[in-house]
Amino acid sequence: MIEAVLLDLDGTILKHRVEDFLKRYFTLIEKRFNHLFPDSKLVQLILASTEKMLKNDGQKTNKEVFWDGFLKQVPWSLEELEPQFERFYLEDFPSLNEGISVDPRTNQVLQELKQKGYKLALATNPLFPRIAIEERLRWAKVESGLFDFIASYETMHYCKPNPEFFRELADLIRVEPERCLMVGNEVELDLRAAKLIGMKTFLVKNGFEVLSEVEFVPDFQGELIKLSDILICERGVLR
Ligand SMILES: [Mg+2]
Repeated sequence: MIEAVLLDLDGTILKHRVEDFLKRYFTLIEKRFNHLFPDSKLVQLILASTEKMLKNDGQKTNKEVFWDGFLKQVPWSLEELEPQFERFYLEDFPSLNEGISVDPRTNQVLQELKQKGYKLALATNPLFPRIAIEERLRWAKVESGLFDFIASYETMHYCKPNPEFFRELADLIRVEPERCLMVGNEVELDLRAAKLIGMKTFLVKNGFEVLSEVEFVPDFQGELIKLSDILICERGVLR
């Protein structure tokens, strides 16, 4: 029986290609910090620290890994830089929602699941601060309050597709992996590792799916709005 639904954000809830979004994000953040980082130095530093987060082995939070690497390369402290990054996320970052289409049914489906008693977790790759992830949920018109837990770089110690990311998330919401359904648009990033630790998988097909050359058969697939039908059937069969 499924008790929790874990959802990816980019390409699953948010209908965009993550590569396009990141391109615009880097242009915007470079502009904001141009006075501190001339040339493309800032983007290089962010990418290098992001690489380290992707390899995080659980000793530190992703946030600690990010800043440990970053601060070694610059003459400023976290206390000096963090408020400036926060201002960027509050003042500049919201403009990146341009061109993102919103499907009001997404929030409805999640509301239904919540009412039926499922736990919900946002299983986005935890490379961003919570403030940026909540802003991105606003772009999709999805209420952040619907989620029992939102993965962000402050709290998580691993990244997708490390199976430990999925295990940590299941532990945090106190649901056995076998009772979790992982919903995502990318086979290798979202689904294969989740399945490896016993989760059920749902491949979202909305035009942004990224399949794998290596065969993978998800337990379910289809549009995100089919989620409630699947869970009703599942409960009907198993209860
Ligand atoms: Mg995705």
